[in-house]
Amino acid sequence: AERKRKVGAVIEDVERTLSTPTALLRSIAGDMVSEMERGLRGDIHSAVKMLITYVDNLPTGNEQGLFYALDLGGTNFRVLRVQLGGKGKQVIHQQYNEVSIPPHLMVGTSMELFDFIAAALSKFVETEGDDFHLPEGRQRELGFTFSFPVNQTSISSGTLIKWTKGFSINGTVGEDVVSELSKAMDRQGLDMRVTALVNDTVGTLAGGRYADNDVVAAIILGTGTNAAYVEHANAIPKWTGLLPKSGNMVINTEWGSFKSDKLPLSEFDKAMDFESLNPGEQIYEKMISGMYLGEIVRRILLKLANDASLFGNVVPPKLEQPFVLRTPDMSAMHHDSSHDLNIVGAKLKDIVGVADTSLEVRYIARHICDIVAERAARLAAAGIFGILKKLGRDKLPSSGGKMPRTAIALDGGLYEHYRKFSSCLESTLTDLLGEDVSSSVVTKLANDGSGIGAALLAASHSQYA
Ligand code: ADP
Ligand code: MG
Repeated sequence: AERKRKVGAVIEDVERTLSTPTALLRSIAGDMVSEMERGLRGDIHSAVKMLITYVDNLPTGNEQGLFYALDLGGTNFRVLRVQLGGKGKQVIHQQYNEVSIPPHLMVGTSMELFDFIAAALSKFVETEGDDFHLPEGRQRELGFTFSFPVNQTSISSGTLIKWTKGFSINGTVGEDVVSELSKAMDRQGLDMRVTALVNDTVGTLAGGRYADNDVVAAIILGTGTNAAYVEHANAIPKWTGLLPKSGNMVINTEWGSFKSDKLPLSEFDKAMDFESLNPGEQIYEKMISGMYLGEIVRRILLKLANDASLFGNVVPPKLEQPFVLRTPDMSAMHHDSSHDLNIVGAKLKDIVGVADTSLEVRYIARHICDIVAERAARLAAAGIFGILKKLGRDKLPSSGGKMPRTAIALDGGLYEHYRKFSSCLESTLTDLLGEDVSSSVVTKLANDGSGIGAALLAASHSQYA
């Protein structure tokens, strides 16, 4: 009974500190908008960087020819080729290959990482079949999706600001990542030119727009999280160049680094941040994205084990190991609807090393997954609501005119595979927008839109165009 009381007290405490009432989400969205505005002004202290992408036109559907794309940004990297048919024909053929990044390369040297990528790309090019066609005398061209914060200096160059998501490689920060990749391709003897360097959010936005003309923003919820959207060029005070003809500029928000004292930061978040590779940074990302959610659950279970003997008198040693509980496992536990919660039981056995768990303990574990996933999904929805606010698409037009249709492209393994997460995100967004507005806002899964998007941007910035 004493144990039960203690368990109850810890859970209540967790519920309270991780709670996200709708009013709080509204004020977090308000802070997101203020930080976005600061970033657009070029205030170096803004919590979000609002990077200028040099993408001032999104795909039209007229793009034509053979293009390659390479996506580096998380646990996997992908290579892709597409044969674009031009007006009315869209994608004629596409092929891709996915390779997981050996963990030692994520913390090794720049040269090793880029050599590995260029070698895989080179092998992929060798398998190009007759379905693909490169006009005589032309060089193959590539869109490079690089999902880390980059200070872009043109559409095809940019220097790395910092590594995130578990990457930590000396000597790349401040370097031009296109020139690093190009040098590695040369070392492989691969004749290919990078014509577009894009963030994955920008690629997803481009791919999303190609599929649906009303797409104005793209959100990634995978290993990390980020967002990009189409801004009016004259709403970017820090942009000193000529105003683009389109009047628009795609902004890579880098919202993963958002922070606000309104974010419900718990002791678990603080400890995880403190022990991370990038303490004090990417606070919003650490509350929302796939790399971290399972780890937050682990930390809460560990507290329950320590303070309330959840797993009996000894604390399971495996539970003390950072990152043993991965978000896909958390998701599997969370979705367990069997009467005896046998999936939760199996996960606790395999991962935590506790063979016989009572039904009560299993319910508690699933409930913790629910609390952590719900907070993440609701905070992500608040961010999206912030972007819609920034665009003035969070309310009915004051003119009384018709509400324009707004589409948002979403991608990333967390959004794609964690059903309870994505459905909570969607219902929270509906709640924040209200019924009238939300009926003209659609979210859509842009499955690997970033690869196609990067190839499309490579096409529209081709040296032959
Ligand atoms: P990346 O973000 O690394 O480019 P993805 O978009 O494929 O790659 O996202 C991978 C991430 O998605 C994983 O790190 C994991 O956190 C999350 N994820 C993948 N599958 C699931 C799942 N079934 N349930 C919950 N999260 C998942
Ligand atoms: Mg990705």
